[in-house]
Amino acid sequence: MKEKDATYLNCVHCGKCLPVCPSYSIGLNEFFSPRGRVRLVLTDNADKLPLRASKVAESMSACLLCGRCVKICPNDVKIDELVIDEKIKLNELAGRAFSIDKIALKALKNKRKVLLKSALKIANIPFVEKLAGRYAPQPEGKSFIQNKDLIFIADIAGKNAGGKNIFTAGYFGGCVFNNIYPQISSDTVTSLTKNGIEVFVPKMQGCCGLPFISSGDVESFRELALNNARAFKDKNLDYIVTSCASCSYSINKLYPLYFDANDEGYAEVRQFSEKLLNIWSFFKELEKKGVKIKTGKLKKEIEAVFHIPCHLSNTEGFKPSSASENLIGEAGFIADKITGLKLKPLKYNYCCGNGGMFNITHYDLSREITKRKFEEIKEASPQEILTSCSGCIFSLKDQKGILKKNERLAVSHLINVYAESLKESKE
Ligand code: SF4
Ligand code: SF4
Repeated sequence: MKEKDATYLNCVHCGKCLPVCPSYSIGLNEFFSPRGRVRLVLTDNADKLPLRASKVAESMSACLLCGRCVKICPNDVKIDELVIDEKIKLNELAGRAFSIDKIALKALKNKRKVLLKSALKIANIPFVEKLAGRYAPQPEGKSFIQNKDLIFIADIAGKNAGGKNIFTAGYFGGCVFNNIYPQISSDTVTSLTKNGIEVFVPKMQGCCGLPFISSGDVESFRELALNNARAFKDKNLDYIVTSCASCSYSINKLYPLYFDANDEGYAEVRQFSEKLLNIWSFFKELEKKGVKIKTGKLKKEIEAVFHIPCHLSNTEGFKPSSASENLIGEAGFIADKITGLKLKPLKYNYCCGNGGMFNITHYDLSREITKRKFEEIKEASPQEILTSCSGCIFSLKDQKGILKKNERLAVSHLINVYAESLKESKE
């Protein structure tokens, strides 16, 4: 693994990170705050920890790895990396006990995702759902990737790129958009081909590994990273694109941190990570390269809010350049291209409460954070909620006990709306 700076030594306990931390916001427990986690790790590393390892594990596992504290910290303390490192350490100590998160991880690692689909089918049986006391997402159609590689030809061969070039992109869907919400994968690919991009979707791609690293299982994480890098290798692609904010956090930020130069596959993983862009950055990049990004029109106007995924808003180096981008981050670039989409602002842009494995290991806490999110959503009174992360979609669709049945709000990916608007495009 890459030698990381011990940034936690820079913590001056100023507390600036407390108000932005979703796990601290519920119950105001210092033990569940970024500053509290830094202190725990400091004392643990100095072998002065008065607590049992299970107590430290509880604090670390209640971290959503949202990165909000990192963004606000004046001393550049990388709390998310600190938490992951501590989880890896604790995971090695803990062994392999039976638990709900271990079952979920097994289902995600299963190559053809048969286990994932079967587990969700069972979890959706009403009495099982009641027994488990939690919501389980329902797969919306057949998986996008079946059992062969997919190639999608650019719709307007070379026209958008000034007739000089057709860019090629690999599509990394991730487990959720490939298997549970396949329409998001299909709409992403359509939006790309309609903008003159040739798209390759390798069947060998799998989970991005985030649920594994956030459980401290670095070995599985590395195995999955290498598998993904090799799935896209040798195709000579210009770019690799994902429409899931959490997948891009995992691939762009964490892959380089958990591989070092001596590891098998280092160069392949590095190259894969450097080539991958989230869908919104990709469209901006295309425009910089001279591709005129198409505008679309919706048949019927909609008023929506866009929930900014934590892993999108914390993208390093992002500079907004339009009013929509100021409002919703990078996604605003595409929102501007959709006539008929009216975006309403959210007051605080709270976290949705998902946090990947956090929603599985701390379902009740996760729901409390989601409830707070819905307070600001209700205040904006939209017709629909848009976002661009698989985890956020899970949590935002889980509205039972938060909204009344007749108040149900549709949740979609912004790319669904863009693809819909392109159907009406005259360009
Ligand atoms: S904002 Fe940074 S320096 Fe201040 S308490 Fe939080 S982690 Fe420490
Ligand atoms: S990453 Fe998010 S949940 Fe974890 S300590 Fe930081 S703000 Fe809190």
